[in-house]
Amino acid sequence: MSNSFDEKVTPIYQEIIKRNPGETEFHQAVREVLESLGPVLVKYPEFAHHKIIQRICEPERQIIFRVPWTDDKNNVHINRGFRVEFNSALGPYKGGLRFHPSVYLGIIKFLGFEQIFKNALTGLPIGGGKGGSDFDPKGKSDSEIMRFCQSFMTELYRHIGEHTDVPAGDIGVGGREIGYMFGQYKRITNRYEAGVITGKGLDWGGSLVRKEATGYGNVFFVKEMLKTINESIEGKTCIVSGSGNVSIYTIEKIHELGGKVVACSDSNGYIYDKAGIDLQVVKQLKEVERRRIKDYLEYRGDARYIEKGNIWEVPCQLAFPSATQNELNGKDATLLVKNGCIAIGEGANMPTTPDGVKVFQEAGILYAPGKAANAGGVATSTLEMMQNASRDSWSFEFTENKLSEIMTNIHNLCYEKAEEFGSPGNYVLGANVAGFIRVANAMLAMGVI
Ligand code: NDP
Repeated sequence: MSNSFDEKVTPIYQEIIKRNPGETEFHQAVREVLESLGPVLVKYPEFAHHKIIQRICEPERQIIFRVPWTDDKNNVHINRGFRVEFNSALGPYKGGLRFHPSVYLGIIKFLGFEQIFKNALTGLPIGGGKGGSDFDPKGKSDSEIMRFCQSFMTELYRHIGEHTDVPAGDIGVGGREIGYMFGQYKRITNRYEAGVITGKGLDWGGSLVRKEATGYGNVFFVKEMLKTINESIEGKTCIVSGSGNVSIYTIEKIHELGGKVVACSDSNGYIYDKAGIDLQVVKQLKEVERRRIKDYLEYRGDARYIEKGNIWEVPCQLAFPSATQNELNGKDATLLVKNGCIAIGEGANMPTTPDGVKVFQEAGILYAPGKAANAGGVATSTLEMMQNASRDSWSFEFTENKLSEIMTNIHNLCYEKAEEFGSPGNYVLGANVAGFIRVANAMLAMGVI
């Protein structure tokens, strides 16, 4: 298993740390990819010669801007907006926008960097980018959200376009925010350019299955992994962290395939429902009323709520971390393995810390890294762009079949690359190597740019 640095890669990583001080999440994401690349440089010396790694780690463009807005009491607030256009070798920059108080350049760069390889794995013509703001949507009124989104887009619009850079949602950015941002883009540019942003509503250029895609896609990936050990989702006890977009549709697909999700969470704590989570209640609380997960107890008296609890202590066979980065550490991983967990599918980006990943790999359980397992979201965003370009809209069944096919292909690609590079079953290596080679070949063909 290749999870240490090759000697050729060490100085490259050291230089990246020096050039990007204080951006710890970005360092972590880069390190994780670079740890897989030693054998690639041996097989493809031209990548080293043309400094592909050094170029891939330097964003093509980084935009930071002021986002002023007024609240309902007329107080002025100033947030910071970001868009990191990381790599466009395969197509226009593509990646979501995150609104969360923890956002700073290092978070956006880690997400944008991961996005390059994730997008490459889908086989679709999209480059990698990411953006967002340190704005906290929690507790804001609808009109405050609207004014913020309009102000954000008033600067962002000049940098994006259907052939340039195509944002979407992420933490804190769902259908409502996409609507306000698309509306402002349309107003400023006087263009109905539907393909400029994805995650749109179904009546105005959105795609069926986009909302469900990240969660469904993750479950499809785990289903494929389980097949390799003659197992299935049916009858398995599962836990899914978070209770946002990705979590909700992960739970939905697990239940459809006969698994049982017994716990989910938000940033205040987790709920445990032995009989299986009632998804209609979670949807009502989170998608409609925007309330906290502890209010689940109002509807399901037999469930338990553990304030500030650690969801990974709940015994399960399958775990789906779907909230945020570094939410699952080495201790949690050890606990999961001890309690009989056989597979992990990461819905979130980089939810497992490096020592957690090591625990899973050493225990030999199936572990799907986010950049492969959660690629269904961006893949279906690209299907949305295709429908926009052809002024068409596809049925749910047709689109879901395409998503399922894409996830199976990503699974097989990662599986085969891991074998080819001497580390069977190592999906981390498989995903990194397969994604990197596709981008690197395109960069090589386009010369030193
Ligand atoms: P949402 O905003 O819809 O939901 C996020 C969920 O995670 C909420 O339940 C939230 O709880 C919880 N959460 C967020 N931050 C933290 C934190 N710091 N600590 C604990 N819990 C937290 O976001 P998404 O579901 O869209 O995104 C979840 C993850 O999936 C992210 O890592 C994102 O990058 C990744 N992802 C999303 C895709 C998509 O299509 N949406 C595509 C690919 C990856 P609370 O409400 O209390 O904050």
